[in-house]
Amino acid sequence: MLEINEIFGPSIQGEGKYSGVPSIFIRFSRCNLRCRNFGVKYQKPDGSIDYLCDTYYAVDPAFKNDWMKYTSAGDLIKEVDKLVPPDYKPHIVITGGEPLLNWEDRNFQKLLKHYIKNKFQITIETNATIDINFTKKYQKKILFSMGVKLANCGEPLEKRVRIKAISNIIKKAKCSYLKFVIDKNLIFDTEKEIDDILKALPKVNVYLMPLGDCKQNLEQNVKTTVNLAVKKGFFYSDRLHIRIWDNKKGV
Ligand code: SF4
Repeated sequence: MLEINEIFGPSIQGEGKYSGVPSIFIRFSRCNLRCRNFGVKYQKPDGSIDYLCDTYYAVDPAFKNDWMKYTSAGDLIKEVDKLVPPDYKPHIVITGGEPLLNWEDRNFQKLLKHYIKNKFQITIETNATIDINFTKKYQKKILFSMGVKLANCGEPLEKRVRIKAISNIIKKAKCSYLKFVIDKNLIFDTEKEIDDILKALPKVNVYLMPLGDCKQNLEQNVKTTVNLAVKKGFFYSDRLHIRIWDNKKGV
């Protein structure tokens, strides 16, 4: 069964290689990490308060009654296709939570195969901690946008950086890239952390994005992020969706 938090679009992809490209988003529920240090405060359905990342509503099972459940890829494809405009094929972004928790699910694979076979570009936004098997040719056409988490997320190193899993994706899906979120208050530790991770990996493109769940917070981290990107020869990625819609959900 596929647990989906939201399906929306076309909107524009806000970050990474396809930033600015019209896209449909399929947000999967559940995650294997709990990045509490990202500090987004939220209220659970029972009224209690907790802290997590900006997609807490897709990560925390306290919201599971709101999640849509699909037992067939066909039904999910029908919902997504309602959003596909008649004149062009939007980029399909599979995000979460952590969508690769579903990699072994046959309906998840049917969904990927369907859109790749029909010549849609697919990006999977992942934390790259799950070691996946590439057994089919179409799987190598997926773009994996690997948002590897740094110490500021609050999870232990061995849980958030899985060199074997990342290396495997880099080798198999050749256009994939890494994405790090930069907090200006931690910049010295962050630079070393990124260096250490990259030393252990095959060559790969790297995007740096400023930390910020709203316009105001984002702005505070932009210059530091650009400076580090220029210093190291990485790409800078903005977060267009936050610039345009601030912290509004599902746009
Ligand atoms: S890995 Fe991503 S979705 Fe999961 S808790 Fe961390 S920031 Fe949230």
